[in-house]
Amino acid sequence: MKNVVLLGSTGSIGTSTIKVAEDLPDRIRLVGLAAGNNAELLAKQTLKHRPEAISINDPVKAGELQAMLGATTRVYAGHDGLLKLATLPTADIVLIAIVGTAGLQPALAAIRAGKDIAVASKEILVMAGETVMSEARKYGVRVLAVDSEHSAIFQCLDGKPSSSVRKLWLTASGGPFRQMPKEDFPNITVERALKHPSWVMGRKITIDSATLFNKGLEMIEARWLFDIEMGRVQVIIHPQSVVHSMVEFVDGSIIAQLSTPDMCLPIQYALTYPARVRSDRVQTDFAKLGSLTFEEPDLDRFPSLTLARRAGEVGGTMPAVLNAANEAAVEAFCNGKIGFEQISHTVARVMERHQPVEHPSLEQILSADAWARAEAVK
Ligand code: NDP
Repeated sequence: MKNVVLLGSTGSIGTSTIKVAEDLPDRIRLVGLAAGNNAELLAKQTLKHRPEAISINDPVKAGELQAMLGATTRVYAGHDGLLKLATLPTADIVLIAIVGTAGLQPALAAIRAGKDIAVASKEILVMAGETVMSEARKYGVRVLAVDSEHSAIFQCLDGKPSSSVRKLWLTASGGPFRQMPKEDFPNITVERALKHPSWVMGRKITIDSATLFNKGLEMIEARWLFDIEMGRVQVIIHPQSVVHSMVEFVDGSIIAQLSTPDMCLPIQYALTYPARVRSDRVQTDFAKLGSLTFEEPDLDRFPSLTLARRAGEVGGTMPAVLNAANEAAVEAFCNGKIGFEQISHTVARVMERHQPVEHPSLEQILSADAWARAEAVK
């Protein structure tokens, strides 16, 4: 039985995690749940799963929830609430699925409290991969991937060191604009960018999948999770999203992990690791799929990949700057203030102006993040 704290329980990953917990009541107990603003869904989840503690952003909503739930569940609020949950004494593992940067400090707090972490929020490793991985080594805890690509690589590597790897191949669906000519990019609307061909996800990551910044963030995430330099992290477009990623070993052999796309699978693997536990949720019919295809990403139409590679190579505070500038630009796009192509133009402009700090402290990372957000909207 694993005691799980779930940060971001009301989101896309959060609700899939709850499905996995419901599939495996003898293996997973939800001891803590945290949400941003959705008090109604958090209350429903709490009444069903009876966690020891929950947290919500707004202290007023927290008070209302406490009055409704009574003494059986402690209700916390805001950033402190996330830290309380991340360090809950009974927790074995903390799954972080909060969109944006709010998950970084809870992730570090969980590690320092000796908890394993399962990371969906890619921002955590993009911003502070060096710190997170070195703290995890120091405290002897695991950092498990929830992202389907990184879960795939983790499964393919099966404990082999990075010295046995020639290349990591991250697959990308290519997003809704994979085949759209560049001349049509100025006509891309928010509505069209939110229609992902393979996955149903939160808003921010769906736009990132359309620009391919999502894959760029994943390249940096892979660099830290698997202790490998950016030069050995490659991206290949695979529209069917059945091969979740691959490892090419030094002898030329390639191992891939495949299934029809369903986030419940990598979530379950992270929460039950090292066990592989029965689930009938995911079924893959190769005859129906027919063919699996691969193509080179178009770096001209999708400059996000080059920007992310550069940020990962420069290192220090540069990945945090890429991440923050992208977040601000995506928000501006969703609010109709900038066009689709300006998302990557904004990130490039902010990165150009940044003086990276090597081996940054958490404070330096957070200050680079704040600087980049302000710079992005100038
Ligand atoms: P959603 O937008 O669907 O959900 C975000 C969750 O974070 C919600 O529960 C939201 O609460 C919560 N939240 C936001 N801000 C705060 C805060 N300050 N404090 C506490 N909770 C907060 O996003 P996704 O589930 O799609 O993505 C979550 C993370 O996982 C992202 O980093 C994404 O990149 C990553 N990821 C997602 C995948 C997917 O398939 N969706 C795949 C791989 C990675 P509320 O709704 O109550 O406001």
